Amino acid sequence: MTKAIGEFDYIIVGAGSAGCVLANQLSENPANRVLLIEAGASDFSPMIHMPRGVARVLSYQKYMWYYQGQIPVNDDKVPDMWMRGRTLGGSSSINGAIYVRGQAEDYDALGDSGCEGWNWDTMHTYFRRLENQLLGEDGNRGVGGPLTVERHSTPNAVCNAFIDAAGQVGLSALEDTNCRAPEGIGYASATIDRGRRCSAATAFLKPARNRKNLTIVTRTLTEKLIFEGTRAAAVLCRQGGRQIAFKCRGEIIVSAGTIESPKLLQLSGIGPAKHLQSLDVAVVHDNPHVGSNLREHRVLPLQFHVNLPETENQQLQGLALARNVAKYLLTRRGIMGYPSYEVIGYFRALTTSQRPDAELLMAPISYTLGEGGLTLDKESGFHAMSLALRPESRGFIRIQSADSSVAPDISPNYLATENDRNVTIASYRFLQSLCQQPALRSLAIEQRNFTDVTTDDEIIDAYLRHGTPAYHAVGTCSMGEDENAVVDSRLRVKGVSGLRVVDCSVMPTILAGHTNGPAMAMAWRAADLIIEDNRQQGQ
Ligand SMILES: Cc1cc2nc3c(=O)[nH]c(=O)nc-3n(C[C@H](O)[C@H](O)[C@H](O)COP(=O)(O)OP(=O)(O)OC[C@H]3O[C@@H](n4cnc5c(N)ncnc54)[C@H](O)[C@@H]3O)c2cc1C
Repeated sequence: MTKAIGEFDYIIVGAGSAGCVLANQLSENPANRVLLIEAGASDFSPMIHMPRGVARVLSYQKYMWYYQGQIPVNDDKVPDMWMRGRTLGGSSSINGAIYVRGQAEDYDALGDSGCEGWNWDTMHTYFRRLENQLLGEDGNRGVGGPLTVERHSTPNAVCNAFIDAAGQVGLSALEDTNCRAPEGIGYASATIDRGRRCSAATAFLKPARNRKNLTIVTRTLTEKLIFEGTRAAAVLCRQGGRQIAFKCRGEIIVSAGTIESPKLLQLSGIGPAKHLQSLDVAVVHDNPHVGSNLREHRVLPLQFHVNLPETENQQLQGLALARNVAKYLLTRRGIMGYPSYEVIGYFRALTTSQRPDAELLMAPISYTLGEGGLTLDKESGFHAMSLALRPESRGFIRIQSADSSVAPDISPNYLATENDRNVTIASYRFLQSLCQQPALRSLAIEQRNFTDVTTDDEIIDAYLRHGTPAYHAVGTCSMGEDENAVVDSRLRVKGVSGLRVVDCSVMPTILAGHTNGPAMAMAWRAADLIIEDNRQQGQ
């Protein structure tokens, strides 16, 4: 028999970027009893907190969700590996730590689509509240908030050459790549606080952890939401070998991320009725859009060698690596405290675009992919990639079984629209042209992979066959006021009560950038909406 434990005002499923913000904000009022449920373990590993430890953490099953998918390319099926963080802080504890707000126009488009309050002016106030930007106040950046953001501040020869080469193809250098209208290139801002990762758990859970009204349970997988009629009343969880239930008198908030949130809704009977019935899942609310509208960036890492005495390749291998880890542990300084990508840029790949439609990422590290995985090159090098910022192509996530331990079918449908293909091709050519500029030619730059990729078809084929997702997926519980939405613009799940979704899955489109910062800013606003709605109900 399932044991029922406690009764809470708010139950949050998933302690990721969004879940940690919600737990902090909703437990601020001691009158609220808040439960935060995380499937993964605590975030104790020093590898999580040392930003470059990510190279290790990504292979630790304990902290990761892996999804082994396949995508069709012509007549072939090509492996497509997805992953997410599974620990306190969620993906913010295992990500590349790059901090991006996105473009104001995309928030405005969301507001204009009927999602009141998600426009830039409003969201800008949440970003400012969120941030403690070490670059300082300038009317745009936030200072004094819980999330420390520092601009990577250790220039090196190959990054400088890359930025100079970008200048030679017309891209201006940016001091702050999150400035008001980011178009240009510069050293990336990162969620790093003097060498330590500033995850959502560090920024939001740590200060709230000792609150008596906040209960955090880890290693507890939520398998299903339990409804009384159409009201979400409890969550059914697996903890070790036992099944337990937590009851909720207020609201359940699903913050399990773009893959697991639609999966949990579908397992609980909210989704495409025919599909759910075919798996013997009792339907609570038929909504064919749960899990649809999946959007993801596709990247193709290009590897280059350069004639320099060293790049980070040499610093991250053998004795030098051991020295760098020791230096980091003693002083928190040096290469182990850097973000995964040091340079980021935004540009117009299509001449017809009114604002940046593509992004560049560059790291002073080059590697070879082989049977055994990724091996850093002995020679000096870097890798760089470009992506279409605002993909229109839409895929889906669908459960394949009523058993919660079975991974869902992830079908991203990359580069399916002409616009996505055109931006991707143009962005690839832009990167090629950048790498042929004098600033990089003077370093005797040599491309190491995809040298025979030249035609449009070859570029798309290479992105699909040899590329990877950028891990910015959104959209599977999309917000909106139309019939295609899963949640309304206050993030309440349509067709039932007492249930919201708050995480990247509610973003109908990728807000032209990376997704950690936007997930946290949106969760903060969501917490305000929840508090406001419940105050009004209590009156
Ligand atoms: C490898 C990688 C690199 C990335 N790099 C960057 C970057 O540099 N910059 C950037 O801005 N973004 C980056 N991202 C993306 C960004 O980190 C994520 O989009 C963002 O953190 C997602 O926030 P979320 O709240 O939607 O979900 P998550 O942070 O993924 O949180 C979901 C949480 O829910 C838990 N959970 C899931 N299902 C259940 C369940 N059934 N029961 C209980 N708990 C559950 C998970 O374990 C997880 O902790 C990266 C992502 C990855 C995977």
